Amino acid sequence: MFFDIIEKVVRVTKALKEPRIATKDVTHEKMHHSPIFRGKHEIRYDICTGCEACAKICPVDAIVMEPLPIKRPKALPEVNLGVCIFCGLCEDVCPTKPQKAIKLSGGTFEMITDGKDEAIKEYWVKPEVPEEWIQKKKKEEEEKARKKAEMLAKKKAETEAKKKAEEAKAKEDKPANVENKSEAAEGDTK
Ligand code: SF4
Ligand code: SF4
Repeated sequence: MFFDIIEKVVRVTKALKEPRIATKDVTHEKMHHSPIFRGKHEIRYDICTGCEACAKICPVDAIVMEPLPIKRPKALPEVNLGVCIFCGLCEDVCPTKPQKAIKLSGGTFEMITDGKDEAIKEYWVKPEVPEEWIQKKKKEEEEKARKKAEMLAKKKAETEAKKKAEEAKAKEDKPANVENKSEAAEGDTK
């Protein structure tokens, strides 16, 4: 009995001297990264086409398409890392070349937080789109639409002019045909 108590005291004393692994501040320590660690996503708003393929293939619905006030891309992906399982399918399916518009960076993202709301918000990867870029794209789209309208109007005018010319020619040809026919009929009676 006495020896049991001594043994316990020695064990507890030893344990107290051991480094307190469970209380290490892992939220502020760099973690070890495996060579195949894929990290959090990088989203290139400037090359994304808004095709939604990444959102459609995501097996856990971690990607939300956020609308933009332009036509292309009409929306950009945002990733909820709290749901993501880091399978990389979104990167695999992204059609942009030579660079992927969505890519798991293999970066240094730490997946442990102190659990506060602010930290949880950081679990979203959202592309930061500059307002100047949106305005530039809007102007480009307006210019493109103007040129397209001009081209269509020109094509329509050309088609109408061609049609009128054909009608006028048909009118000119008609009396000559009638005269030829009546001359031929006279010849037959003689
Ligand atoms: S890595 Fe996988 S789970 Fe995460 S967002 Fe991409 S497709 Fe979804
Ligand atoms: S990130 Fe790639 S797959 Fe996703 S919407 Fe953009 S272009 Fe499409």
